[in-house]
Amino acid sequence: MARYYVNRNAQANGDHEVHVTGCNWMPDPGNRSYLGEFSSCAPAVREAKKTYARSNGCFYCCKPCHTS
Ligand SMILES: [Zn+2]
Repeated sequence: MARYYVNRNAQANGDHEVHVTGCNWMPDPGNRSYLGEFSSCAPAVREAKKTYARSNGCFYCCKPCHTS
């Protein structure tokens, strides 16, 4: 299991990126929301979408869930 976070600030394209602990692109603590512990990025992105409809996996740490 790993801890996932979502960026509270949208990217230029409107996506809120989901990151896993240890990612170099993890937002600062004040700019991220803790999603929970998950075994993969898919349920983490699903959880993030409850808050941000346009959530997407980080290209670097959640590549299987990166769609745009
Ligand atoms: Zn990341």
